[in-house]
Amino acid sequence: LSERLQKALRNLTGKGKISEEDINKASREIRLALLEADVNFKVVKDFIKKIKQEALGKEVQESLNPGQQVIKIVNEELTKMMGEENVTLTKSKHIPTIIMMVGLQGTGKTTTVGKLALRLKKQEHARPLLIAGDIYRPAAIDQLKQIGEQVEVPVYTEDNQDVAEIVKHGLEEADQHKNDYVIIDTAGRLEIDEPLMEELERVKAVAQPDNILLVVDAMTGQVAAEVAKTFNERLDITGVILTKLDGDTRGGAALSIRAMTGKPILFTGEGEKLTDLEPFHPDRMASRILGMGDMLTLIERAQQDYDAKEAQKVAEKMRENTFDFNDFIDQLEQVQKMGPLDQIMKMIPGMANNPQLKNLNVDEAQIAHTKAIVYSMTPAEREDPELLNPSRRRRIAAGSGRPVVEVNRMIKQFKQARDLMNQVSKGNMKGLSGLPGM
Ligand code: GDP
Ligand code: MG
Repeated sequence: LSERLQKALRNLTGKGKISEEDINKASREIRLALLEADVNFKVVKDFIKKIKQEALGKEVQESLNPGQQVIKIVNEELTKMMGEENVTLTKSKHIPTIIMMVGLQGTGKTTTVGKLALRLKKQEHARPLLIAGDIYRPAAIDQLKQIGEQVEVPVYTEDNQDVAEIVKHGLEEADQHKNDYVIIDTAGRLEIDEPLMEELERVKAVAQPDNILLVVDAMTGQVAAEVAKTFNERLDITGVILTKLDGDTRGGAALSIRAMTGKPILFTGEGEKLTDLEPFHPDRMASRILGMGDMLTLIERAQQDYDAKEAQKVAEKMRENTFDFNDFIDQLEQVQKMGPLDQIMKMIPGMANNPQLKNLNVDEAQIAHTKAIVYSMTPAEREDPELLNPSRRRRIAAGSGRPVVEVNRMIKQFKQARDLMNQVSKGNMKGLSGLPGM
């Protein structure tokens, strides 16, 4: 485990109940974090009030300090507010399922039409038809045509000044070709205006879409929330796609939009490429808004699954070089309980982009084999690996159902790992890639 995590674990101490002072201290930080993330100030105010009610008098968990406990409550509340579950597209009973894309100019509607089409093709082997409903700029139609070519999906276009009519004809075409999805691209303006809203209302009336997805640029923060409110009032949108989250925006728009429209965010745009579309994860967004990386998740897992005292003991054993197979199996189990190791490492701030992580593949099957081998050892053998002579190794191989070469390799790796850990515990950090199962 990383030094940072070890340190975090050491600082975790329980202190009774959450006091008014704890909350006030934490809520100052929370308010700042939310405002910095560009969350609408009204939303922030309501949120802090809710947290104060929620947190006061709550028991502080043994492994956390009061500040961490408040932050944990904040994080849970944020996640809840943005919708705990991952919401997906509404499907029509009869094909085609119709998706209408709306939003201001430049938010990423046309790009997202292509991203969605590609996703549906890949995930459901769907055969979508795209309809070019932005007729005001000739370039807009060409842009959609190009995107259609890239993702190999047909695009319906028509030289007509009446968008509702184009959409009607496009839907007839989809019926003829039995397309299972229709995605309608529409025009946007730089600002909301009445002609745009009326046009979108007409398109909605003709298309009767199962999904009206508002595309918003996450970088526009507060503005995004106001825009979402208006679009929702006029069109009763079914959901939101938040684009340009690949920038350094903290994503406060996600919270404001949800609070002001009550509509779920379905997907996020994470780049300009047509593959850069992700399902929305409220929990990740919550920690992003709070600006703490995924440290929260790490605290949570650590507190659930890891006993700090146990870690201390192991560290001591490593220093004294008395680390044996019993400790080894304990460690493997702790690691497994915490979840996939590569993911855990990625949550540590500064580690996510570490190129070394790419090579750190955790093989769950191999961990299971390793455990089987250790379980086939006698208690004496586990305590003293030096006992493991060839005949014992053959017995262990037979008992665990693993080949002798694998038993030999595992024991060798164990010894290497033990030596390595011994060095690490003496402050000589070289990396953990020598551990079995990695
Ligand atoms: P529209 O006017 O709403 O149709 O917006 P476009 O689809 O034409 O996109 C406007 C610009 O935003 C284009 O340059 C896109 O490449 C870019 N864009 C769209 N989505 C994303 C995203 O998720 N991340 C980034 N970085 N750029 C995006
Ligand atoms: Mg467009």
